[in-house]
Amino acid sequence: MLAKAKELLQQYYGYPEFREGQTRIITALMEGRDTLGIMPTGGGKSICYQIPALMMDGVTLVVSPLISLMKDQVDALHTVGIPATFLNSTLESGEAGRRIREAMQGKYKLLYIAPERLESDWFRQWMHSMNISFVAIDEAHCVSQWGHDFRPSYVNIAPFVRDLPTRPLVAAFTATATTEVTRDIARLLDLDQPEVVVTGFGRDNLELSVLRGVNKRDFVFDYAKAHTHQPGIIYAATRKDVDELYEQLRRKGLAAGRYHAGLSDEERGRNQEAFLYDDVRVMVATNAFGMGIDKSNVRYVIHYNMPKNMEAYYQEAGRAGRDGDPSECMLLFSAQDILTQKFLIEQNQLSPERKSNEYKKLQTMIDYCHTPRCLQNHILHYFGDEGEQTPCGNCSSCKDDRETVDITVEAQKIFSCVRRMQERFGISMVAGVLKGSRNKKVLQYKFDRLPTYGIMKDRTEKEIADLINVLIAEGYMGLSEGQYPVVRLQAPAVEVLQGRVQVYQKVAPSQPLESAVDN
Ligand code: ADP
Ligand code: ZN
Repeated sequence: MLAKAKELLQQYYGYPEFREGQTRIITALMEGRDTLGIMPTGGGKSICYQIPALMMDGVTLVVSPLISLMKDQVDALHTVGIPATFLNSTLESGEAGRRIREAMQGKYKLLYIAPERLESDWFRQWMHSMNISFVAIDEAHCVSQWGHDFRPSYVNIAPFVRDLPTRPLVAAFTATATTEVTRDIARLLDLDQPEVVVTGFGRDNLELSVLRGVNKRDFVFDYAKAHTHQPGIIYAATRKDVDELYEQLRRKGLAAGRYHAGLSDEERGRNQEAFLYDDVRVMVATNAFGMGIDKSNVRYVIHYNMPKNMEAYYQEAGRAGRDGDPSECMLLFSAQDILTQKFLIEQNQLSPERKSNEYKKLQTMIDYCHTPRCLQNHILHYFGDEGEQTPCGNCSSCKDDRETVDITVEAQKIFSCVRRMQERFGISMVAGVLKGSRNKKVLQYKFDRLPTYGIMKDRTEKEIADLINVLIAEGYMGLSEGQYPVVRLQAPAVEVLQGRVQVYQKVAPSQPLESAVDN
């Protein structure tokens, strides 16, 4: 069966091999199993349903919310000789009916529809007499309220499928991999014991780095200046930051463009075009930039601020190096970014449940910014990709050749302080107590009487807070949910306190280690 699929891959698309995840998805589908394919954008999802569609009887229904892309998708299929068509609100009256009749006559293998179609009785009637063997659902996270893009009309998919005279095979695809969303997709789309395939999140050509404590502005200018011949994107959190960076890059004589939702359609279009055609090399933008943009030779993506979660980060960073050539993804982290993101969460009118979910996701992003572990592996692990997990050798963690020092004693000081404060305070309060701060709140709670008060006074509060963040990222401690998260000990911290486990950290050689550990 797979041999036949491979033949079609070569015949229609001219590719000699399936990607690893495609093989797993197509195999499951050919075995007649419902499938949930989780793959990053650009991972090659379309082929996962297009090839099975060619191998099955009847018509494959493809549900997609991206009306503006439908025509392109169908045109692309025509170019390679696959008969397909689409139905959406852009069609003139009468045209939809004509296409459906043609589909009934077996003229098409794939029929793309917008989910709103499913609400039409007229459409459902027709579908009852059509031979639909397979339903593929693109952007399946739209069915979940946990996703970033909930579409009420997706809720109609499951009842629609249930009402068909014979139940077709169902496959759902998404690039969003959080457990809540995955669970929702399987449940709300009524997948039948689906094969879940998570794949393709590894991008070997991306050199990931997290830079903490750099002067962001200088870094951006120096980097853009040193790479004027290469296309790159700089993402900033706010329109104001975008405008400022843009102005300054321009003033320094760099061919920069900008993009954010505050600009006119006309200017956005023009700037995007200029970037696509290499008239400007560096694009300064908010996260509004990038959807549906396929520029393969982006050589670097700099995040001027930490984004709100890992999905957003990896989607944006992943716009680098689509052509497979080495590219850099740099995230410039500062503690201020955490506050900004919390502010944004609080500003949105979210249900308590939603809010706590946003905080949880933000924390995983903060963890990424602090982990000493290989960043590639960290990302794969986060997305649940079962690919191989050897350190990439290429990220800022792997290339960190600073000395590894034993910080067990420091970690013990922190853990015991957290415990003595009854695990009821946040990072800055714990850092304040360890530092021996005279802060009003510290004194009010009488923390100056704790044996752990001031036992790290040789370090700055910021250093202590950084260390606490590292220990959280490493899973020794956790943060409670909410706007004022509280630091709590996790099981591994207890092992450290009992002296059964050592803790190590990378430290710059210039930093006097003795004073850090020994006081
Ligand atoms: P997605 O829908 O996951 O964003 P696409 O299906 O658009 O991704 O595929 C992304 C790109 O990868 C396309 O240019 C596609 O032709 C290419 N591609 C997909 N599968 C293969 C393969 N097996 N070999 C080579 N290129 C592939
Ligand atoms: Zn690495």
